[in-house]
Amino acid sequence: MKKVGHGTFKWMKSINRTIVLNKIRKNAPISRAQIASETGLTPPTVSNIVKSLLEKEIIRETQLGESQGGRKPTLLMLNSNHLFVIGVDAGPGYIKCILTNLEGQTKKEYISPSVKGISEEQFLQEMKQGVAYLLHADIPKEKVIGIGVAMHGAVDAITGTSLFAPNLGFRNLQIKQHLEKEFDIEVKVDNDARAMAMGEYWFDEHGELETLVALNIGSGVGSGIILNGKLFYGAQSVAGEIGHMTIDLYGELCECGNVGCLQTLATGDAIARQAKKEMTLEMINQLKEPLSGETVYKLAKEGNEIAIKVLERTGTIIGIGIINLIHLLNPDRIVIGGGVSMASEFIMPSIKKSIQDRGLTQQVKDTEVVLAKLGSDSTVKGAIAIVLDSVFHPTNN
Ligand SMILES: [Zn+2]
Repeated sequence: MKKVGHGTFKWMKSINRTIVLNKIRKNAPISRAQIASETGLTPPTVSNIVKSLLEKEIIRETQLGESQGGRKPTLLMLNSNHLFVIGVDAGPGYIKCILTNLEGQTKKEYISPSVKGISEEQFLQEMKQGVAYLLHADIPKEKVIGIGVAMHGAVDAITGTSLFAPNLGFRNLQIKQHLEKEFDIEVKVDNDARAMAMGEYWFDEHGELETLVALNIGSGVGSGIILNGKLFYGAQSVAGEIGHMTIDLYGELCECGNVGCLQTLATGDAIARQAKKEMTLEMINQLKEPLSGETVYKLAKEGNEIAIKVLERTGTIIGIGIINLIHLLNPDRIVIGGGVSMASEFIMPSIKKSIQDRGLTQQVKDTEVVLAKLGSDSTVKGAIAIVLDSVFHPTNN
């Protein structure tokens, strides 16, 4: 039996092999004859590819098929627990690493201590430690087809470089190069919002969406755009930077140097600043913790009217950002994730009202707006999806 070794990632990416593999992934259990008739590949081609996939144990045979009078046909399905993927959520607060099977089910995880204030070298070291921990489990390195890294800030996905991570003050951190050198496994790096978009798209049960925009609203505001099933980057990889969409010409100064960007109005810090302006000094002094976006959410849940009003207004503003996106791209679905989305009970109704008030047509007003269904795992699962997508959809890369 041939061993799955290094280069499995590249080996899986031949076009016909990918077509067969995708058919099996989406329609399993499925017979060889069905694959041939539904993909248009010839039966001998399908047979050869299936043989090689079976040899590498990427797929397996099962006898679950319905008998058509004769012998039960042998059906094929992914051998999900034979190959694995590592996902890394490299956030501004901590690094989370997970090991999943080919279906994206988590088998093992690692969460770093706080990364606030650490150097670029320490940050890379933390990331390596997380990956090494997962590899030291029962999984040999040869069975890991790739490592996906979702990094906050501006990322060059082609070179796998973090161009600028404002919260940590990093510039030009060559993540892909460092991790590949250390582990000899293919590494994909993208920014957190794009990873989130890919995760929400890839792990969607219905799988029929063509266009989706995912907004990551937390300590910053970013978005990932899936157009016709592919991540959209634009000419300089800046597509989706909606945090710097101008909302208020006379607004607050943003870290980018402009004023009134969406990011100055919708992040956790922005929510805290708004609340601080409206609360009396006495109210602020009574708090048992420093005023943060999370505190405002807690106050809102206790019925504090100022906190509720601030969150609702934040929702209205996010809704304005979203309606601009909708009129520009007309997506099937908008997904909202990140820390601020935790306060959805207060922000979601006003987001939806904002869209209802401003949409150009009834269908546009009714655009599906949902919370990230992968929740707090949406970024790290997105990192997994980026690797899976590049294996199963090589034409996307
Ligand atoms: Zn800005």
